[in-house]
Amino acid sequence: MKHSYAMTIAEKLDHLRKELPAAVTLVAVSKTHPASAVREAYDAGQRGFGESRPQEMTAKYQELPKDIRWHFIGRLQTNKVKYIAPYVTLIHSVDSEKLMAVIRKEAAKNGREIDVLMEVHIAREETKSGWSEEDLLGFFASGRAREYPGVRVRGVMGMATYTDDERVMEAEFDRLRTIFDSIKARFFPDEPSFDTVSMGMTGDYPIAVRCGSTMVRIGSYLFGER
Ligand SMILES: *Cc1c(COP(=O)(O)O)cnc(C)c1O
Repeated sequence: MKHSYAMTIAEKLDHLRKELPAAVTLVAVSKTHPASAVREAYDAGQRGFGESRPQEMTAKYQELPKDIRWHFIGRLQTNKVKYIAPYVTLIHSVDSEKLMAVIRKEAAKNGREIDVLMEVHIAREETKSGWSEEDLLGFFASGRAREYPGVRVRGVMGMATYTDDERVMEAEFDRLRTIFDSIKARFFPDEPSFDTVSMGMTGDYPIAVRCGSTMVRIGSYLFGER
C-alpha cells in the first residue's frame, strides 16, 4: 500500500474504513507517537487505539477524551496491570495463567470486568510470546478458565512471522482462525461475547482479513514509522 507522505491521518483512516469489511474492527496503534497524533485520528472519528507500554497508555488516557477505547497489545508485566486495569477496554496479550490471576485481582479491586484475548504463539520466531495451541486447549479443557471471574475471554490474538513469504503468513493466520473456531465450538458455544480474532498489522492485514480476522492492529501505516 503505497501513498504519498502528503496523505493525512484522516485520509488514511478513510482509506482503511473503505478497504476493511464492516465486521472488522480497526485498532489504531499509536505506541511511541504523541497524544497529538491520537487526537488527530480521534478528530477523524477513530475511537479504538492500541498501546504497548502501560505508563505511556495511561498518560495518553489521562490527557485525551474519555470515550477512547484503549487496547493493550504489548507484553504485560504482572506488576503493571494495576495501572491500566481501571480503564483498559481489551488486553490482547494474555500469555499465562499468572497474568490471568493478576487481572482477576485488579478487576475485582476496580469493580469491573476486564475483557482479554489469549495471545497464541503462531510465528516461527521464538522471541514472540503467547500460549502454544496445546497449552491453551489444555487450559480451557481443564475448566480452570472458570476460576477467573471478572476476566472475560473474548477470543485470541496472534502475530505472524516477519517474512515476505505470503504463504507462511497465510498458513499462520489460517491456523489461528482454526484454533479460535475450535475453542469457540468446544468451550464457548453459547457465548456470543467470544467473538474476537485479533490478527493483522500494517504489513500483513489484507492476508489476515482474508483468513478471518475480526480485529486488525495498524500502526505505521496510519502514524508513520516508529
Ligand atoms: C506495534 C504493534 C502493532 C502495529 O504494527 P504496525 O506494523 O506498525 O502496524 C500491532 N500489533 C502489535 C502486537 C504491536 O506490537
